[in-house]
Amino acid sequence: MNAHTQQFNQPPHPNGTAARHGRLFIVSAPSGAGKTTLCNAVLEKLPALSYSISHTTRPPRPGEQDGVDYFFISEQEFKKNIDNHVWAEYARIYDHYYGTSARFIDRQLSEGKDILMDIDYKGARQILDRYPDSITIFIMPPSFEALKNRLVHRGTDCPKIIAKRLAAAEQEMANKKFYQHVVINDALPAAIQALTAIIAHPDAG
Ligand code: 5GP
Repeated sequence: MNAHTQQFNQPPHPNGTAARHGRLFIVSAPSGAGKTTLCNAVLEKLPALSYSISHTTRPPRPGEQDGVDYFFISEQEFKKNIDNHVWAEYARIYDHYYGTSARFIDRQLSEGKDILMDIDYKGARQILDRYPDSITIFIMPPSFEALKNRLVHRGTDCPKIIAKRLAAAEQEMANKKFYQHVVINDALPAAIQALTAIIAHPDAG
């Protein structure tokens, strides 16, 4: 049975109605589009929404906590987990691996919990193959210049890495056409409201 059929063959709920299955909300954005701030604000507004904490082989940035921002693991462990089919999706981005635990996703969905995932477009495609009724949302920076300024002022990456991220951002932005929703992050409160509305009412309009 694949994940899709599983979603529609749920056991009946004790009160006679089918148990509600959770939904996946995939958020992608070029780095510097303000996605983390936006996602954190939406998670605060929608406390029932679970956040999928990714695993990565990249080193933590200052202030990042293991088990909160990411699970930081070695490349050896990550590759072992590829072989053991641990990942619902994974990608290699900027010389590091990033992946989502299939067990976490499946457990949350079967418990009826909606999940917010912050993953790149390669991961988004894999998740859509596996969970076809996922909702995809692309966060756009107001302009390429704004993106560059944010990356420089964030001060977390050296110029070489920033150049790499900008090149990847251009590639990533070209993928926005594959997403069901696009939210432009030019004014944070409006963007928070737009993203919250999509997640709270995914089937509206
Ligand atoms: P950062 O290193 O800036 O935290 O994230 C770099 C990129 O990796 C972002 O585009 C982010 O969405 C993506 N990313 C984070 N976690 C995952 C994951 O589990 N899977 C995939 N495919 N991408 C991820």
